[in-house]
Amino acid sequence: MAQDYYQILGVEQNASADELKKAYRKLAIKYHPDKNPGNKAAEEKFKEVSMAYEVLSDPGKRRQYDQLGHDAYTSNAHAGGGAGGADFRHAQDIFSQFFGGGATFEDLFGGGGGSRRGYNGPMDGNDLRYDLTIEFEDAVYGADRKITIPRLEDCPTCNGSGSEPGSGKKRCTRCGGTGQQTISQGFFSVRQPCPACGGSGEIIEKPCHTCRGQGRVRVEKSFQLHIQPGVDTGSQLRVPGKGENGTRGGAPGDLYVFITVKPNPVFERSGADLLCEVPVPFPACVLGGVVDVPTITGKARMRIPAGTQSGAILRLKGKGMPSLRGGGRGDLHVRVAVETPVALTSEQEEMFRKLDGSLSDRNHPRRRAYAEQAKNFLREEK
Ligand SMILES: [Zn+2]
Ligand SMILES: [Zn+2]
Repeated sequence: MAQDYYQILGVEQNASADELKKAYRKLAIKYHPDKNPGNKAAEEKFKEVSMAYEVLSDPGKRRQYDQLGHDAYTSNAHAGGGAGGADFRHAQDIFSQFFGGGATFEDLFGGGGGSRRGYNGPMDGNDLRYDLTIEFEDAVYGADRKITIPRLEDCPTCNGSGSEPGSGKKRCTRCGGTGQQTISQGFFSVRQPCPACGGSGEIIEKPCHTCRGQGRVRVEKSFQLHIQPGVDTGSQLRVPGKGENGTRGGAPGDLYVFITVKPNPVFERSGADLLCEVPVPFPACVLGGVVDVPTITGKARMRIPAGTQSGAILRLKGKGMPSLRGGGRGDLHVRVAVETPVALTSEQEEMFRKLDGSLSDRNHPRRRAYAEQAKNFLREEK
């Protein structure tokens, strides 16, 4: 049984214009003949989805289609002559209208990249990516690192021409110097770069011995990279002009250095702020006191207020990471981990027992509040 247009597009009968568009876009790309060369079934599907979309995307046609039903509507359209039937060129028109202008399949979904067929003018070099892992300390103080990257550069022997010095180039006989060849593929004729000359239209008589006619050689280039204090994992440093060289006078690309900062066992980082956990003796938490805390620039003294609870977070202003955007530092947040004393002597134990006996609910307001909050779950078990 033939599918109706809604089934062909895989949408509900009450699909919105937007849903139709999305469904068509997906299927048209999937079944486009450029993506399925020589595949008759895909071509049929392509025609079908195009026809379905053409009808359902037009509110007038859609109304008529809904009223008449699929069979009546399509036989009507055929009887009327016109553009009925799943004509391929028509399907192609719908496709290009949908994606706009004279865009071809390859423009939209092709490999992209800088290389244009048969293009002989200057071409800018590609950007390069370099992944760099640095120590936590480098992010604190900044650092200078020697970076070595392989790049393509014009061959020094032939100056990038690809010809052995003293020899020349002749016109490519295969393409007659146009750099292109045309291939017929069913309904399509596709232009491709000439395989003999690679799209340049010229053939090298005697390839350069250094680069084997490529005109470019891979070289390792080193330079100093300055890492600013405050960089973080995910920071990208752009180094202008350190990407691949351009060809025929094109500008060089840029180098992007992607930073990863190694984690630190003491400090956890959140932007410019740092968090660390510090064990604090029980008496200091009860009575208040002063403890040493680590900071990235060395130890600092931190006051612990009397009655500090486990998990309390105390802030040391300006003791975090340097800010990347110049000036200032983040804060250091210190999480208090109350340390319960262990390995007590019997005498110490006795003192704790005495202390315990003297404590009442008044000394444990949190416990009282908690008992209220959790009372439903603190009943005797059934
Ligand atoms: Zn060369
Ligand atoms: Zn050629």
